[in-house]
Amino acid sequence: MVLPEPGRPLEWRLLPDPQPSAGQVRVRVHACGVCRTDLHIVDGELAHPKLPLVPGHQIVGTVDQLGDEVSGIALGDRVGIPWLGWTCGECRYCLSGRENLCDRARFTGYDLDGGYAELTVADARFCFPVPAGYPDDQAAPLLCAGLIGFRAYSMTGDAARIGFYGFGAAAHVLLQVARHEGREVYAFTRPGDIASQQFARELGADWAGGTDERPAELDAAIIFAPAGDLVPLALRSLAKGGTVVCAGIHMSDIPSFPYDILWGERSVRSVANLTRADGTAFLDLAPRVPIETTVTRYPLQAANEALADLRAGRLQGAAVLIPPGSSGGQ
Ligand SMILES: [Zn+2]
Ligand SMILES: [Zn+2]
Repeated sequence: MVLPEPGRPLEWRLLPDPQPSAGQVRVRVHACGVCRTDLHIVDGELAHPKLPLVPGHQIVGTVDQLGDEVSGIALGDRVGIPWLGWTCGECRYCLSGRENLCDRARFTGYDLDGGYAELTVADARFCFPVPAGYPDDQAAPLLCAGLIGFRAYSMTGDAARIGFYGFGAAAHVLLQVARHEGREVYAFTRPGDIASQQFARELGADWAGGTDERPAELDAAIIFAPAGDLVPLALRSLAKGGTVVCAGIHMSDIPSFPYDILWGERSVRSVANLTRADGTAFLDLAPRVPIETTVTRYPLQAANEALADLRAGRLQGAAVLIPPGSSGGQ
């Protein structure tokens, strides 16, 4: 499924089979998760994507061809391909354990063709082994919703009470990690979104309600929704010393707010991308929680429908695309 240019629907096109360059593997895609970032790219909210583009950066598949100089991955291996597709390895960020901030990073399904396809190629060094026991479709959302969500979660330190603002794919995964670690979780949805609140309670949220409510003083809040007006709202619910983490790649403007609500050593920060170390840590943790993902499957050809459902908030959990010929692991 190809994005011809931002603001247009994806098109079903027959492309030549991609060939792996040196250091790359070719992967037969079994399932690819749909992320809110894909929506931002398709809607033109993120500048300068590769065009035309095959979106998708939560890819689970098996290696069916090896490029030259590939080590550590064999034909037939099941791998996950995440958002971080390539880094330079030599800038000051790469050299200080912060490859997520690499000046020249390339991202899957944005700078590089991704997984809304039957076949894709990826740099072998950036692929992860997928934990056994997860069917392909349920593993796919771990690769971004889970993984970048986990990086955001890590920024909350030892917060005892965490608020999740926006209860989509990422929050439904991270709630399970937070409960596993004995933290109290407060799930904030659009006011009146009873279905999402019910879903959060079923997954173990201590409280679920609208973003206009203030049920408790929070030690940390993670904002998954792309709405800047949630930042002052979350700040007003924070205890002293608390942090608001903005986990999305795009957000509408943040309205001005009084210094009072930041005072008391409260902080606001963003989280960008992922490092490979985040991925390894999270995929090691997932089966031990164990994290269970709730997915809605769509045939690959219905990618536009999946994006529309995500945009309209009609989904619980994560949308996953299944290419023709794949069972998606079911
Ligand atoms: Zn770099
Ligand atoms: Zn993503």
